[in-house]
Amino acid sequence: MCGIIACVGKRLALPILVEGLKRLEYRGYDSSGVAILQNSGAFLLKSAGKVSALESKLPADPENGNAGIAHTRWATHGKPTEANAHPHTDCKNSLFVVHNGIIENFGKLKEDLGEKGHIFRSETDTEVLAHLIEENYDGNLNLAVQKALSFIEGTFGMAHQ
Ligand code: GLU
Repeated sequence: MCGIIACVGKRLALPILVEGLKRLEYRGYDSSGVAILQNSGAFLLKSAGKVSALESKLPADPENGNAGIAHTRWATHGKPTEANAHPHTDCKNSLFVVHNGIIENFGKLKEDLGEKGHIFRSETDTEVLAHLIEENYDGNLNLAVQKALSFIEGTFGMAHQ
């Protein structure tokens, strides 16, 4: 079963999120990933396999953002690869989504979004969420998420930034 952790505060987010992922390991998973918001833009890192594999890819210089999201994935749609690991992003890499569960109608949504020009980089059902929020974004993120969720069929939990 997958796990989601998110944090925002005064301390560095990355060590808190990586520690959170370790605490989620007991639930079972096949890959993991983390996204941190930084002044200079976003930092995204994903890996197939254990959280230790993700840790081994971390840059030597600590990432300095104070807000982020992280995920341990239990694949339902798409193999347990790095590309399919969460967080997933929109076309502009400006929105990051982690998700637990299944989007039942992702096939039709993916087709419609593809016709509108959205570029998909994974085989997951989850990625449609990022593009659907992007498609409905008009300056108000909360509204865009609400609108996007109104198109979704399935049971799930998610975090975005
Ligand atoms: N259905 C999503 C995927 O395959 C989420 C799986 C999960 O809950 O970890 O990526």
